[in-house]
Amino acid sequence: MGNRPRGNSIFVGITAMSFSLLSPALQQSVEVLRGVGSDRREQLQRLHIESVADLLGHFPRGYDDLTDVRPITKLEEDRLQTVQGEVVEMDGRRLADGRTIVQVVISDDGTHSLAGVWFNQPFITRRFRYGQRLAFSGKPKWRQDHWEMPNPRVQPLVETTGEQAPGIVPIYALTEDLRSDVLRRLIQTALDRFAGYLPEVLPPDLRLRRGLPVAAQAVRDIHAPASLDQGRLARRRFVYEEFLLLQLALGLRRRDLRDRQRAPRLPVTTQIDQRIRRLFPFRLTCDQDQAIGEICRDLASDRPMQRLLQADVGAGKTAVAIYAMLAAVANQHQAILMAPTEVLARQHMRTLDAYLAQSRVRRLLLTGGLPARARRDALQAIAAGEVDLVVGTQALVQDDVQFAKLGLAVIDEQHKFGVDQRARVRKLGVDPHYLVMTATPIPRTVALTVFGDLDVSTIRELPPGRRPVTTRWQRPSQREPIYETLRSALREGRQGYVVCPLVEESATLDLKAAEQTYQELQDGAFREFRLGLLHGRQDEATKAEIMQRFRWGEIQLLVSTVVIEVGVDVANATLLLVEHADRFGLSQLHQLRGRVSRGTVPGQCWLLADPTTDEARERLRIVTRTTDGFELAEHDARLRGLGEFFGTRQHGLGDLHVADLLADREVLRQAREDAFALVLADAGLRHPDHALLRRAVLERYGKTLDLAEIG
Ligand code: ADP
Ligand code: MG
Repeated sequence: MGNRPRGNSIFVGITAMSFSLLSPALQQSVEVLRGVGSDRREQLQRLHIESVADLLGHFPRGYDDLTDVRPITKLEEDRLQTVQGEVVEMDGRRLADGRTIVQVVISDDGTHSLAGVWFNQPFITRRFRYGQRLAFSGKPKWRQDHWEMPNPRVQPLVETTGEQAPGIVPIYALTEDLRSDVLRRLIQTALDRFAGYLPEVLPPDLRLRRGLPVAAQAVRDIHAPASLDQGRLARRRFVYEEFLLLQLALGLRRRDLRDRQRAPRLPVTTQIDQRIRRLFPFRLTCDQDQAIGEICRDLASDRPMQRLLQADVGAGKTAVAIYAMLAAVANQHQAILMAPTEVLARQHMRTLDAYLAQSRVRRLLLTGGLPARARRDALQAIAAGEVDLVVGTQALVQDDVQFAKLGLAVIDEQHKFGVDQRARVRKLGVDPHYLVMTATPIPRTVALTVFGDLDVSTIRELPPGRRPVTTRWQRPSQREPIYETLRSALREGRQGYVVCPLVEESATLDLKAAEQTYQELQDGAFREFRLGLLHGRQDEATKAEIMQRFRWGEIQLLVSTVVIEVGVDVANATLLLVEHADRFGLSQLHQLRGRVSRGTVPGQCWLLADPTTDEARERLRIVTRTTDGFELAEHDARLRGLGEFFGTRQHGLGDLHVADLLADREVLRQAREDAFALVLADAGLRHPDHALLRRAVLERYGKTLDLAEIG
C-alpha cells in the first residue's frame, strides 16, 4: 500500500520477493543458518520460508524510524521517539484490579526521568540492571510530573564502542512463536553470509539510468536501511525489477505476435462500412465510432490486431465487435466470437440473429453441449468455409476445430479466460486478428500489466437515453418496504432479479441460498407472481430454457446466483435486489447493476447488507455513490489488490510480489518504457549484458506467455 507515512513509521506493504536465477547457495534450506533447527524451520515454513532465498526475500512490511533521538527535556507527546539513558530505578507492584505494573526508569542527565511501563510482565525487570545504559523507543505521555512510555522497544547500548542509536527497525510479517527480534537476527545472519550471492539481472546501463542499487546491496538496504530513504530506494529497485521482467515478457510477446506473424488484410471500404451500419437499429455513439476507427486501422494491416476493447457495462461493445466480425466476413474471411459461458454464447447468437435477419451471412453456434453428430457436421462446415461466423465457448479452441479462413477472433470477457487462453487460440494454426472484450473496466495501470501486450480501445459513453441506475444500500431488516416497491413494479409489467451469493445453504457462512430464497419468495412475499430460479449447478439446457422464459416475460422475477453477472441482456428487467451485498466485490456489484440499465426505464438496485468490516462498508458506500465503472475499478483494485481483482488463477500471470500497481505506477511507467526500448534494440536479448535478464524473463513468464523461443 505504498509509502504511507504514519507518524515516523513507514509502511511499504512488502510481503515476499521471489528472486530469479538462484545460485545453489541461495537455494539451500534455512537450516544451514546457525540457530535454525527443526522447530524454527517449521515456524519459518508457516511464513512460506524454506530456503535462504525465501528468508532474504521476506521483506519488511514497513519500518519504525528510531533515529529521532531526544533528550528527555525535548520530548513530545504521542510521537515515536528514542531516549538514551541510564537505569536509575526499577519497581513493580500489583494494582487493585489484579494486574501487575512494572516500571523501569531511565535518566539522561541525572535530573529528568522517563519511566518505561509494562503491564502483566512482572519478570521484565530481570532483563535490566541498575546503571545499565539503554535506549527506549516509543510514544511518550506526560503524567503530571514525569514522562511515561508504555511498552517501549528496548535496545541495550553498547558501552565499549560508544553510543549506538537503534536506527531504523524493520517490521516483518510474523507467525506464532517467532519473535520479531529472532527473525531480525536470522535475516541479519543470512544477509552477512549470503547477500553477496544474489545475482544481478538488471543491465548496468538501465540500473544506472534509474539510479538503483545492485541487488546484493539493495537486499541489505531493504532489511537494514541506514535511513528511510535508503529503504525506499532499495524497495524501488525490486519493484522496478519486477515490473521490468513482466513488461519485457509482454513486450517480447507483443513483438512476437505483431512482427513475426502475418494476418490477412481486412480493409473496410466506405461501401462495406455503410452496409454494416445499416444493420444496426441505432446510430453508433462517438465512443463506439472511435473504437471502430481504431479497429479498422488494425484490420487493414497485415500485422495481427491485438486489441482490448473495454467498455462500461451496457456501453455497447457487442455492437462494435459485431461490426468487426462483419468487416472480416465482407473480406471473405471467417470470424469467431468466444464467450465464457453457454448462456452468453447463446445470447450473442441471438443478438447476431437479430442484426443479421436480413443478411446472407452464414452463422453457427458451437458449444460443448452439442450432440456428437451435430458437432461433426458443424466442424465440417467450418473447415469447408461454409460458415462465416461462429459463436461459441471454449469448445471453439479444441484441437479438432479447423477453420477454412479465420480472419478475426473476438474473445468476450477476457479476464475469465486469462492470458493462457489467448495463447491457445493462437495455436489454431492461423494468425487471425484479435479483439478482446472486457466488461470489467480496467484501471489503466492494471491494463498495462495484465494486458500489457494489447492496444486498448475504450468506450465510456453510454448510448443516448440511458438513465442511470439508482442504487440504495439498506439493512436486511428494511426488506418489507422494498418488496412492496418490487411488487408494484412487477404489477406494472416490469421484471427483476434477486441475486444471492451461494447455491446451497452453507452452515459456516450462513449465506442465504438462492434455492431457499426462491422458495421463500414464491411461497411468501411474491406468491402472486411467476418466479424462476437460475444457478450455476443447473445444466446448460435448463439454464437456457429459464433464460428464454425470462426473456419472454413468462418469468417475472428471476432468483439467481451470479450467473447473471456477465452480459445477460433483458431490457425489460429493471429491478435488482442483491442479498448479502457485502459478499460481492465492487466490480461484481457494478456488473450486476449493469443488468438493469439496459432499457430507457431507469433501473433500481437495492443492496441488502449488514456488513461487519470497514472494507465492506466502504465498498457499499462507493457503489452507491458512483456509477462510473472506471472509477469503481480503481477503488476495487486498491481495496482488494490485483490478485483478488482478477482472481489469481484467472489472469495467469501470477501476482506481483513487491510492487503495488497503484502506488508504484511511476516505476511501472519507467519499467515499461525501458522494457519496450530494450525489445526494440535487442529483440532476442542476446547482448551479454542481457543474458541474465533473458533467463529471468523466461524462467518467470516463458511458459504462461508462450515465449518458448525469444529472438
Ligand atoms: P455491452 O456489451 O458493452 O454491455 P451491449 O453491446 O450489449 O453492451 O449493448 C447494450 C445495449 O445497448 C444493447 O441492448 C444494445 O442494443 C444497445 N446499444 C448499443 N449501442 C447502442 C447505440 N449506439 N444506441 C442505442 N442503443 C445501443
Ligand atoms: Mg454485452
